[in-house]
Amino acid sequence: MKKFNVAIDGPAGAGKSSISKAVAKKLGCIYVDTGAMYRACALYAIENNIPITAEGLQNELDNIKIRIKYAEDGQRIYLGDVDVSGRIRESDVSIGASDIAVIPAVRLKLVEMQRELAKTNNVVMDGRDIGTYVLPDAEVKIFLTASVDERARRRVLEMEQKGQTADFETVKKDMAYRDKNDSEREFAPLKQAEDAVLLDTTELTFDEVVTAVTDIIAKVLD
Ligand code: C5P
Repeated sequence: MKKFNVAIDGPAGAGKSSISKAVAKKLGCIYVDTGAMYRACALYAIENNIPITAEGLQNELDNIKIRIKYAEDGQRIYLGDVDVSGRIRESDVSIGASDIAVIPAVRLKLVEMQRELAKTNNVVMDGRDIGTYVLPDAEVKIFLTASVDERARRRVLEMEQKGQTADFETVKKDMAYRDKNDSEREFAPLKQAEDAVLLDTTELTFDEVVTAVTDIIAKVLD
């Protein structure tokens, strides 16, 4: 198979991770969850009581040792030797990730890791700036979106399935906060790339979205 990269961007809760994971499995390539990297950086700051500001983090970046491993069940993320794949999904880390993602030095560190992964593997990579900034030459670019109500509804369901308690209004408020932060930041904001295909998943089931994404990829790669 020839070398290719797929960039999937969109707002929080649009289904990027679950869709990208399923599509990567179908294509037999690796799925890179870039949000997990921002989350791991935020967790480092939270655990070490470091303020999430450019000044607070400027001397800490080299101490944040993020490692990605690929296991049977997909990407695992480590801070040092600790697998933090579960902890980074909690809501304090979600908000922290959105705050840390506005800091250019953090982005540059993580973008370097992301580009390296895409250089050596065929990847389906999801995030906010993959098509516009991280991999501007990706063979396929898709912008996944859905209404904020639908995105919050899906996130609540996902949290409940994991046995966590979730309040719809709180989840929706957190999502709107992150959307605003992500879209309004100066450096590499959340934005649809000009050459990305827009896919609104509000009315679609999971399987329908996987099929739609796979069809888009097949058409481009044929
Ligand atoms: O995708 P996920 O919700 O896990 O991402 C967590 C946060 O990391 C986002 O709210 C966003 O602020 C940030 N992020 C980013 N650029 C990416 C991926 C995630 O700014 N490529």
